[in-house]
Amino acid sequence: MKAIRLVRVGDPNPDLVDALVDPLAEEFGVPCSVDERRIDPLFALHPERRQAHSSQLLAELIRDDGGGDHLLGVTSLDLYIPILSFVFGEAQTEGHGAIVSYHRLRQEFYGMPGDAILLEERLVKEAIHELGHTIGLLHCDDWECVMASSHSVEGIDLKNWQLCTLCRAAISCVP
Ligand SMILES: [Zn+2]
Ligand SMILES: [Zn+2]
Repeated sequence: MKAIRLVRVGDPNPDLVDALVDPLAEEFGVPCSVDERRIDPLFALHPERRQAHSSQLLAELIRDDGGGDHLLGVTSLDLYIPILSFVFGEAQTEGHGAIVSYHRLRQEFYGMPGDAILLEERLVKEAIHELGHTIGLLHCDDWECVMASSHSVEGIDLKNWQLCTLCRAAISCVP
């Protein structure tokens, strides 16, 4: 991985997008920046589901080959793929594109008071998780590893920000 570029999908909270920059740069050891490009998600919206089709947005994101950079779409929209009721994010395995949503990472989604710090932590974890897939990492059996598969925010909250030693060793040979 050479660099990470964050691409806004729709109109995500700028503070949350900015909050990803330093943790991602640190975890992957490459420069990370917010891209000029913004994707208009209208074409991927499903009116009845009131959700956006994750794979369609991902396809749009990677129409830009990234020039060797990894692209991470960030959105506030609720994402789905047709076989699942929702997804927190989606990634190309060993590709250069991934997308994350913070829609269901907000405490408000579960009827609780907002928690900005918790939201930021969850989004960082999911962003690292999806980018981990783009460099070939699969789901990890260590439930504290950021590459553990999570289907709920409770699962995300149990994980660390970091890759476990095994996952880290697996990517140490990735250029
Ligand atoms: Zn995953
Ligand atoms: Zn791991």
